[in-house]
Amino acid sequence: MKNKEIEQHHLEMQKKLNEFARKKGYPIEDFKFVAVGYLSIDEEFEKGEVSINFLNKLKILWHEGGTTGSLGHHECEFCIKEGNYENRGMSNSEKMLIDRENKIKYLFPEMIFHYCTEHKFKPCDAFIKFVMRI
Ligand SMILES: [Zn+2]
Repeated sequence: MKNKEIEQHHLEMQKKLNEFARKKGYPIEDFKFVAVGYLSIDEEFEKGEVSINFLNKLKILWHEGGTTGSLGHHECEFCIKEGNYENRGMSNSEKMLIDRENKIKYLFPEMIFHYCTEHKFKPCDAFIKFVMRI
């Protein structure tokens, strides 16, 4: 799935949960969902160097508090296109990081590490800054 599809899926889930919460009188929280690093072969993506500090911090966060299964198994389309089938990146999990201050829920797949190191993917600055801040 692509970034926009992931964001849409979570937004729809949030709407359903908020409907339920409203009926029950529970507090409602509205977050913006920002998916980072769900890359697809048919979409352009930002390229650039990311710091080792960022990747190390993201790895620490990845291992804290668990991950969830993603919406299906994913294999790196870029590796496959390059004929690097044996060493292609694969993942089936993702993680959510919550920026309560800015009401944003960031979602990223395990593949983000592979994309950054093997395909020069550069996440958006807001995500990098948030990861380095928490
Ligand atoms: Zn790859």
